[in-house]
Amino acid sequence: MPQSNQLPEETRHALRVVSKVLPFRVNSHVTSSLINWDAAPEDPLFRLVFPAREMLSPENFARIEKLVMKRAPQAEVLAAAQEIRADLNPHPSGQREKNVPELDGSPAQGFQHKYRETVLYFPARGQTCHAYCTFCFRWAQFVGDTSLKFASKEAEALQRYLRAHPEVTDVLITGGDPMIMGTHHLAAQIEPLLTEEFAHVSSIRIGTKSLSFWPQRFVSDPDADGLLRLIEKVAEAGRNLAVMAHINHWREIDNPIAREAIRRLRDAGAVIHSQGPLLKGINDDPAVWARNWSEQVQLGIHPYYMFVERDTGPRRYFEVPLHRGLDIYRTAIQQVSGLARSARGPVMSADPGKVEVMDVDLSQGRARYLLQFLQSRDPSRVRRPFWAEGEEDACWFTQLSAPHQAPAASPEIVRKEVVSPEPQRMPAAR
Ligand SMILES: *Cc1c(COP(=O)(O)O)cnc(C)c1O
Ligand code: SF4
Repeated sequence: MPQSNQLPEETRHALRVVSKVLPFRVNSHVTSSLINWDAAPEDPLFRLVFPAREMLSPENFARIEKLVMKRAPQAEVLAAAQEIRADLNPHPSGQREKNVPELDGSPAQGFQHKYRETVLYFPARGQTCHAYCTFCFRWAQFVGDTSLKFASKEAEALQRYLRAHPEVTDVLITGGDPMIMGTHHLAAQIEPLLTEEFAHVSSIRIGTKSLSFWPQRFVSDPDADGLLRLIEKVAEAGRNLAVMAHINHWREIDNPIAREAIRRLRDAGAVIHSQGPLLKGINDDPAVWARNWSEQVQLGIHPYYMFVERDTGPRRYFEVPLHRGLDIYRTAIQQVSGLARSARGPVMSADPGKVEVMDVDLSQGRARYLLQFLQSRDPSRVRRPFWAEGEEDACWFTQLSAPHQAPAASPEIVRKEVVSPEPQRMPAAR
């Protein structure tokens, strides 16, 4: 990474300190094709992967800095880092305890089943990424057995679960980044689902950041062609293979190899959808989203979700108030073709469900937010708008509450959805 030598000493020092706490991983594609080094450290794609000083509180930064400066033993640095991490809400929205379904009477690790139609599946080997995004803590939750033997055991558990749940139409393989896995591992998980027995699984989705961080996966890796053949097999079996591409900025796919990867995926029969969070200093600009969505449509990618950054990790560094997020979304969506208006947002993937911000009323002192569920454990709540109240600069669902004066329409729903923890309706999901 020769370019980082040109970074100001201050930036490199901050990187040395902060990366003791927040994960840092980068590769040659990111450093040579994505980052604009002349613009670093302000460059959005630099910020996407390089930790900055402000991502820690001044006290936490000083604490680690002191240990680094006096060359404290590794164990001591690690212990301090663990304490700081535990304060950064590493497992937001109850991801670890909730939504874990049962299989054969015990909790099925490696699965989440929150919305009736879709099971999330976390194969152990897919729980890391080609590079780490500075705003993400997700990789931290799993590190497991990564042998092929374990992969086939996992695949068997997935099959048992799907046999017991004919209501599931979608399997979303996620991570980390499942595309970090070799093709033979992916095949061990996917191919068995293509039989008649699993005809109810109409879509197999794979969540990935590889189009940005390692498009070589689909073009020049030794098993890239095998991966495309696997995708073809899914299409031949009459199923939909959806690549859920994580894209924050149009520059991530503005290079020849990423474009080649997109072309090859589409040729193999994959449908590509894009999603990603709105982040201060990276993409908090309508022009970035308008260009992002327009270019995606031109390349055959379907814009899907603009997320609100989760309440985790260095979220203070990246968070954008909901009203500003809505402004950015509206301004961007108004500039693009109807084909790009498939993007929904801003959406909070919160504990009770996926909540879209539809409107914000800042006119009467206290802000009012018009929200709706796009996903909920209880499907009957979907697409029934309700009002909530909060501060003007609220950034997340938990900062909102039911209004003191219920709106005319469906006050029951307002109370239930905003205040109380939702009932667990899914028999198998706890
Ligand atoms: C987002 C999400 C899904 C998929 O929802 P879609 O709206 O169908 O894309 C499934 N499960 C969980 C837990 C999710 O957060
Ligand atoms: S690629 Fe996804 S899972 Fe990996 S660090 Fe980035 S946001 Fe997190």
